[in-house]
Amino acid sequence: MTAERADVVIVGSGPNGLAAAVILARAGLSVTVLEGQPTVGGGVRTLPLVTDRVAGSAGLVRDVCAAVPAAAPTSPFFAAFDLAARGVELIVPDVSYAQPLDRGRAGVAYRALDRTVERLGTDGLRWRRLLGPLTAYAPEVASIALSDKRSLPSGDPLRLGRAALAMGASTSLMARAWGDGYWSTEEARSLIGGVSAHTISALPSLAAAGTASYLGALAHTRQGWPLVRGGIGAISRVLEADLVAHGGRVLTDHPVRSPKDLPPARVHVLDMHARGAAELLAEPYRSRLQVPLGGGACKLDYVLSGPVPWTDPEVRRAGTVHVGGTLAEMRAAEAEVASGRHAERPVVLVSDPAQHDDTRLGPRGLRPVWAYAHVPTGSGQDVRPAVERQLERFAPGFRDLVVDCVVTPAARLADHNAAYPGGDIAGGLISMWRMVARPGPAIDPYAVAPGVYLCSQSAPPGPGVHGMAGLHAARRVLRREFGMTQIPSLAPGK
Ligand SMILES: Cc1cc2nc3c(=O)[nH]c(=O)nc-3n(C[C@H](O)[C@H](O)[C@H](O)COP(=O)(O)OP(=O)(O)OC[C@H]3O[C@@H](n4cnc5c(N)ncnc54)[C@H](O)[C@@H]3O)c2cc1C
Repeated sequence: MTAERADVVIVGSGPNGLAAAVILARAGLSVTVLEGQPTVGGGVRTLPLVTDRVAGSAGLVRDVCAAVPAAAPTSPFFAAFDLAARGVELIVPDVSYAQPLDRGRAGVAYRALDRTVERLGTDGLRWRRLLGPLTAYAPEVASIALSDKRSLPSGDPLRLGRAALAMGASTSLMARAWGDGYWSTEEARSLIGGVSAHTISALPSLAAAGTASYLGALAHTRQGWPLVRGGIGAISRVLEADLVAHGGRVLTDHPVRSPKDLPPARVHVLDMHARGAAELLAEPYRSRLQVPLGGGACKLDYVLSGPVPWTDPEVRRAGTVHVGGTLAEMRAAEAEVASGRHAERPVVLVSDPAQHDDTRLGPRGLRPVWAYAHVPTGSGQDVRPAVERQLERFAPGFRDLVVDCVVTPAARLADHNAAYPGGDIAGGLISMWRMVARPGPAIDPYAVAPGVYLCSQSAPPGPGVHGMAGLHAARRVLRREFGMTQIPSLAPGK
């Protein structure tokens, strides 16, 4: 790197790294972002989908990691940054998520809570009791969930208080919702299983209940669980453009593997897995970042010649489909994975974006289908056969539509993003304790060594496309290192 000494060097250009970079550059600091990959955006990238049988000229693109930025619409960072004003279009499917079952049945979580309640029939009222109060306070629920867990989130104190009470009540009800007698239909039971499984850990758990409450509430808001027109990478492009407009820069192909790769700066901010960050620090700071790894993901990028033929037509309208069958099956699958074995019937998340966005269609109706399966951390296995058995089960004829598939086993995910060691896509194990004490117990989880800050999903509030770890870290950098108490305006055009 040939630059003069920057005020701030940030390692990693994921949404948290870019959020921190934008804030610090807008505060008038010189900011350089070092990105190990040839492309910017980390978990928020859209790249050409080239396979042995489909050329780049087909114009198909794939979301390399995240596809459904459910946390973005209610993230305080993105609210201030204003994605819509910058030309990023969020597409909001009417069905936020669905859970196909055997014999053509399915659980369906519509954006409209009333419609979900109606379809669930005898379980409808219980569904409303579980998620209705949270949905009514969704912005405040998001502020609390995305806070640094160290200070009061901003907002109307009365509404925040009510939201906190609703979160507590829903999380404890969720524990009952896992019991045998709570629901009378598998549709409701398995819907809760699917939304809980985002923690990629043994089920049930308090962390899974908290995650299900938060994601379950977002699903029934006006913004739902959106997709991004043209692919999620549009978010990273506008973040990078804003950074550059404020004098910052991103240098790609700049992996930082040891302290000697780190150029001098007043402050270093790390958008890295806690374990990767540890490699750059001396003791005693290093061992504090040796977090346990979370569950693994095997990514599958399909090229199909038509829409996924889910048996229930309502499932075709969903932005996200949780494939795993009944709650009991998902529980068994996640238990296998947590104990280091591959599940015969794995939990798979699927999105068919061309159902909602015709810009994703290629020639002759070709389309990308995004999927990832839960696997043991570090797994090198290509789980495509097991995934296709699951898909064929709920979408008969799926295999006939497959033109090609790019599989990235968990052990290879780090080749595309060093922040996912062993395929841990969550920055470390998710548990209730670790949702607060991320990366470990500390009064300030972002200041990890003198002049060094952690801003990634390994710090609170954890995984998701929200940029909030970046915001919380940047706030501390401004105050402690540069004596600035205000976050600059993030509004477009300023
Ligand atoms: C398959 C998959 C599916 C997902 N689906 C969703 C979803 O649908 N919705 C959702 O909200 N979230 C999803 N996520 C999670 C989401 O992508 C992450 O929570 C989010 O990207 C975390 O942001 P971050 O900035 O902390 O880190 P990242 O986005 O991971 O960015 C870290 C960046 O740092 C770089 N880096 C790391 N180490 C180094 C180093 N040593 N030197 C230089 N550069 C380095 C990486 O290359 C990367 O660019 C998914 C993740 C994966 C992998």
